[in-house]
Amino acid sequence: TVITRFAPSPTGFLHIGGARTALFNLLFARRHGGKFLLRIEDTDRARSTQPAIDAILDGMRWLELDWDGDVTYQFARAERHAEVARAMLASGHAYKCFATAEELEAMRAEQRANKQPLRYAGRWRDRPESEATEGAPFVVRLKAPREGSVTIQDQVQGAVTVNNAELDDMVLLRSDGTPTYMLAVVVDDHDMGVTHVIRGDDHLNNAFRQLPIYRAMDAIEGGWPEPTYAHIPLIHGSDGAKLSKRHGALGVDAYRDELGLLAEAVSNYLLRLGWGHGDDEIISRKQAIEWFDLGGVGKSPSRFDLKKLENLNGHYIRNTDDAQLADLVAKRLPFEPNDAQRQLLTDAMAALKPRAANLNELADGAAFLFRMRPLDMDEGAVALLEGDARTLLAQVHDALAAAASWDSETLDAAVRAVAEAAGVKLGAAAQPLRAALTGRRTSPGIFDVLLLLGRDESLARIADQIS
Ligand code: GLU
Repeated sequence: TVITRFAPSPTGFLHIGGARTALFNLLFARRHGGKFLLRIEDTDRARSTQPAIDAILDGMRWLELDWDGDVTYQFARAERHAEVARAMLASGHAYKCFATAEELEAMRAEQRANKQPLRYAGRWRDRPESEATEGAPFVVRLKAPREGSVTIQDQVQGAVTVNNAELDDMVLLRSDGTPTYMLAVVVDDHDMGVTHVIRGDDHLNNAFRQLPIYRAMDAIEGGWPEPTYAHIPLIHGSDGAKLSKRHGALGVDAYRDELGLLAEAVSNYLLRLGWGHGDDEIISRKQAIEWFDLGGVGKSPSRFDLKKLENLNGHYIRNTDDAQLADLVAKRLPFEPNDAQRQLLTDAMAALKPRAANLNELADGAAFLFRMRPLDMDEGAVALLEGDARTLLAQVHDALAAAASWDSETLDAAVRAVAEAAGVKLGAAAQPLRAALTGRRTSPGIFDVLLLLGRDESLARIADQIS
């Protein structure tokens, strides 16, 4: 069975690239009826923080990147990692290196002088331990193959080959006995049964360092098959440069809290960022699980485009149930709405949805519903009430007050009649009305506003501006 994993380092927020990696792993696992696991790579004790772990878990829950089983914490497994290093040591697949910091520095200086690549030259590889000073500190290094080459059949990058001569004997255990990242990843992936490693292509080079560990352990005890690799291109900004904060590389929580985007929209956008299924833009999670394949992942970096994401978000807003949307918008109001206000918010959604790209715009658009009389008018609204506008508004007030019923057809006819009698366009009557009802110059359709506010509140707000 297929087992994938997402293995973030909790040194910062869950960013958009990480969320996409997690999504691809989830979809691939679901597609093949397998499992999607989560491992927190918290071995960098200085930089790993609990708030970062919380942000990752929270972001994944929000995007419904539901992992299977318990979260694995890498740091807690250090003893197991060391055990594997000792097995490699015992079987001669690894060795103790007693080189001191000064010796390593001298070696690098020499390599620099000879313009050679900086790498461990293997001084202790074939030197007996007896030559070391009694009790001297050592690191455990992998005895990496020196001849030949390794080829990875990467599911995204294709066949990638590296000559073994280019790889040095990397450290598996530090002198304090702690495992290195390279060792920990392999041991954890093996123990978690990971069959497919899908991650950013900034880790492609690591795969060539990780494979020899699988091979050594497979030779020692068997049952360490190499995983299938898929290294996905990173996300770039709209200008083609590596994605940074300036491009909107925020934590996913900011997409939710600050930008007011819906999880479904972000998830759909991330899917389309670097993976394609023909020209399909709107793809549900269910559909994505049926369609997702590694072959559809592009080889070149995709460009993050906030405008596109917002357009997609607008689509999802229009397709979200009004009550559900009202709940999300309610959280963005400066007060806690009561049941009646909640209902009003729900009723307003139909009028607000068509023009909103995010929840902030919905909350902004809904704000007029809850303003206290007399409304504080913004500059634009004040301007709309200058000149003859108030006279016209007074006529509109009387026409509305006289309307036989409070429905959009009747109200429309009433306002039109006032405009016609005054010899002006409908807008000339409608704009001051909008200003009076909302305190702003933009709002949903004016008849929607009248209906949402109701007769009494509407007439009172108008009266406030003509008296
Ligand atoms: N912890 C690594 C990172 O956050 C990922 C390691 C991996 O996927 O193998 O970049």
